[in-house]
Amino acid sequence: MTQQMDLIAMNVLGNFINGRSVNSTSDRKGTIFNPATGEAIKAVSLSSAEEAAEVVEAAANAFPAWSQTSPLKRARVLFRFKELIERNMEALATLISIEHGKTLPDAMGEMTRGLEVVEFACGIPHLQKGEQSMNVGTGVDSWSMMTPLGVCAGIVPFNFPAMVPMWMFPVALACGNTFVLKPSEKVPSTALRMAELLKEAGLPDGVFNIVNGDKEVVDVLLTHDKVEAISFVGSTPVAEYIYNTGCANGKRVQALGGAKNHMVIMPDADMDEAADALLGAAYGAAGERCMAISVAVPVGEETAEKLIAKLKPRLEALKVGPGISEQANDMGPLISKEHREKVVGYINKGVEEGARLVIDGRALEVEGHEQGYFVGGSLFDHVTPEMTVYKEEIFGPVLSVCRVGTFKDAVELINSHEYGNGTALFTRDGKAAREFAQHIQVGMVGINVPVPVPMAFHSFGGWKRSLFGPLHMHGPDGVRFYTRMKMVTSRWNEHDSSQSVFTMPTMK
Ligand code: NAD
Repeated sequence: MTQQMDLIAMNVLGNFINGRSVNSTSDRKGTIFNPATGEAIKAVSLSSAEEAAEVVEAAANAFPAWSQTSPLKRARVLFRFKELIERNMEALATLISIEHGKTLPDAMGEMTRGLEVVEFACGIPHLQKGEQSMNVGTGVDSWSMMTPLGVCAGIVPFNFPAMVPMWMFPVALACGNTFVLKPSEKVPSTALRMAELLKEAGLPDGVFNIVNGDKEVVDVLLTHDKVEAISFVGSTPVAEYIYNTGCANGKRVQALGGAKNHMVIMPDADMDEAADALLGAAYGAAGERCMAISVAVPVGEETAEKLIAKLKPRLEALKVGPGISEQANDMGPLISKEHREKVVGYINKGVEEGARLVIDGRALEVEGHEQGYFVGGSLFDHVTPEMTVYKEEIFGPVLSVCRVGTFKDAVELINSHEYGNGTALFTRDGKAAREFAQHIQVGMVGINVPVPVPMAFHSFGGWKRSLFGPLHMHGPDGVRFYTRMKMVTSRWNEHDSSQSVFTMPTMK
């Protein structure tokens, strides 16, 4: 224990302001654990409201020069940042794996998906050009400018320590904004390292800043008059709070929330393909993904029986262990002791409410990692829409099979759920696929694709209570979110300026 305390004392993470790491003066701290061992490995300062306000001021001071920098020069910084990320990819992925627990290859995958947004942002000068019309009236021309907003803030969850921040800041910076990032207090190291790499890439001081902390810091970002826009990703209750508070304080807000993603398996689907896809989509990253499939919906009893028969042996062979290991594990531990207890609590609740627990991961112990926060892959059958395990987001390695009679029942089931982040359909029937894509009330839809996360040049976002606000992340919506349009109408011909016009101006 003393050794742990010494270690924490040596590794207290602070903030990144004006291009350098700064210790926080706050005496409130959060402990960072290695979820695979249960050991405390570092601490992070939970900054005060005053410190948060200082960070916003730093970003506000950097805005005039950065917003006036040529878009090409801004993009060049991101080009260099891209190269630095590539060079440091494995080290960054290792940091993710140690603090989050996901496997190293999965963390590398996360880095790659984040990097793709940086690559997209390198081309943003093309998307920020605006539009022009000549001669809208005699001697009158009109054009639009996509101008940056000012200071933008990002508040992010624990489950993607690099990728989710990278959905936000590369786009915001390329558009000419300055940025304040509030990482998750459970996994702050990767973001701090990325801040150093941005500086190394040539980003001017103050353009990108990090403030570590909790609600106290977030509340400053939501109310400070120099913050123009808030991007949030996290759980739905917090997303709703962020959206309502940010909007009430005049900010532009996009707040992405929780999910319950269904995968429909039609009787004509290739069952091996569907079972393999489900396994990765449900249990990858121990189910701690907002696009994880947590409900399988087989259409018809025969399909359900076949699916369970295919899933069982695959799930029994799942390799669970530390994220960094000689053995290639399929999934690692959950993020914290509390979250492990919550997930086990959901499994208990499912049993109590009458679902059939086909595979029980509650008692799993990983040799040599007995204090780690592991739960084995778990499978429920005969789950009904009234059950808690169906209604609520578990965010763990628990897949519920919810049997339905027809394709129409499957669509109705999904459309009745409060969340609408992602969904998938496995079928060989083109008509069913087309109908599904058209009528499903979900933001991201996969046809024979289990985790349909859009590429960086498209936009990411759910429907219903999975997203508050009209604009999705990155891609074209990201550019719209981080810019504000200005229309200029100018006349350069000779005209009689002595005459006032009191009617609506029309074309002459
Ligand atoms: P969380 O909502 O607990 O925390 C997210 C962020 O909000 C953190 O930075 C945290 O410090 C801050 N926060 C927490 N409580 C707050 C409060 N009361 N007031 C102000 N700020 C607060 O989420 P989490 O546990 O870190 O992440 C898991 C959740 O994120 C899941 O629900 C998952 O579905 C969701 N998620 C959604 C997406 C998506 O794209 N829709 C992507 C990733 C994760």
